[in-house]
Amino acid sequence: MFIKFWGVRGSVPVPGKDTIFFGGNTTCMEIRPSDNKLLIIDAGTGIRLLGLELLKSDFGKGRGEAHILFSHTHWDHIQGFPFFMPAYVGHRNDSNRKPDKSCNKLHLYGVSDVDERLEVTLRGQMEHFYFPVDMENLGALIKFHPIQDKTIKIGSVFVTAKRLIHPNGVLGFRIQDGNKTLVVATDCEHPSDGTIDSNLLELAKEADVLVYDSQYSPEEYNPSAFGASGPTKIGWGHSTPLEGAKVAIEAGVKKLVLTHHDPLHNDDDVRRIEKIAQENFPNSIAAYEGLVIQV
Ligand SMILES: [Zn+2]
Ligand SMILES: [Zn+2]
Repeated sequence: MFIKFWGVRGSVPVPGKDTIFFGGNTTCMEIRPSDNKLLIIDAGTGIRLLGLELLKSDFGKGRGEAHILFSHTHWDHIQGFPFFMPAYVGHRNDSNRKPDKSCNKLHLYGVSDVDERLEVTLRGQMEHFYFPVDMENLGALIKFHPIQDKTIKIGSVFVTAKRLIHPNGVLGFRIQDGNKTLVVATDCEHPSDGTIDSNLLELAKEADVLVYDSQYSPEEYNPSAFGASGPTKIGWGHSTPLEGAKVAIEAGVKKLVLTHHDPLHNDDDVRRIEKIAQENFPNSIAAYEGLVIQV
């Protein structure tokens, strides 16, 4: 399984001289299982760059097919979608929504139990107050699929989604390709009682790679626990590298990848976060734009 990170920031894009190494785009991952189908996790601003790369392949001719899994619909996970160029390639027939011969196909997966939230939100951010092209005018064929709390098959992979702890909810994903497993748990907070979220533990069990929300240092997350003052981040829906290491050890994970870097963190700050994880779980790395992992 080929895994590439196109956006690793949380909350808001932060391009600039202080974030050159890790990158400034928000969450997006490209996943190519052994059957070479294309899975994408989240449409933060990183998906714009992935889209440009895809145009060089079948997607440029309207013959591409992608499966985009949305962890949730917070802005930093959907904002790149209107700039995903493969969505504009094709001439689908609006009246019956059947594709013609040259029409990219995009399958969008997300939670469905809150008023079809994914579809409503993606359409909403393309309403004319916000964006000049509405979703009905995209050339690609777009299909929405519910995914939470079940396992689905996409080509050769099994994708299991479970709810994790985050304001208004988030899905964690376990992607199983033969005997290789990738788990993505972005935007998740650990329980306040010192335990590990049982849904996360179940998803992460013996995974080859666990991608984990490490937005805050332990001191930033809970200053008073370190004898410091300052605002707490408890209840904000994000976690720390220490908690990531704890999950990795408990679940028997092989490699821990830290993501959703805080917009206030420059490259040195992210390296400090990475070091905290490595001191507790040596096979840890902080994700950066362009990072490729092959399992
Ligand atoms: Zn986020
Ligand atoms: Zn979020």
